[in-house]
Amino acid sequence: MQIAGGCLCGSVRFRITAAPIITRACWCRLCQYLGAGSSTVNVCFPREAVAVEGETRDYRSVADSGNVMHRRFCPQCGTPLFSEAEARPHLIFVRAGTLDDPEIAKPAATIWTSAAPTWACIDERIPRVEGQTPPAA
Ligand SMILES: [Zn+2]
Ligand SMILES: [Zn+2]
Repeated sequence: MQIAGGCLCGSVRFRITAAPIITRACWCRLCQYLGAGSSTVNVCFPREAVAVEGETRDYRSVADSGNVMHRRFCPQCGTPLFSEAEARPHLIFVRAGTLDDPEIAKPAATIWTSAAPTWACIDERIPRVEGQTPPAA
């Protein structure tokens, strides 16, 4: 398995040597900031399978659950690239828009629908969860 991607300006590139564990669309309030008003689509991979080239910056925040989150982005163009939770150091979430081939990021579920605005376009064909669920069974 060889998956590649990067940011809008090309300063950051990454390569992934594992298949996605799961992909989910997230409507949490924070993702609405990152997604310009929409949900984000996040593809979960084993952390060790992702190699990143180029400088990223890290925005650290504490989730409602108490989890310390790191969200990395390109300091040149601002593209959101990754999110990682300190509680799950073996996983990394890649923003689907950064993949060279976004087709591989087909969401299996939508999470945090309780935070979505009334006009949100939410796929009726996949499970919807009001809040958070663990990323992997
Ligand atoms: Zn960039
Ligand atoms: Zn979210």
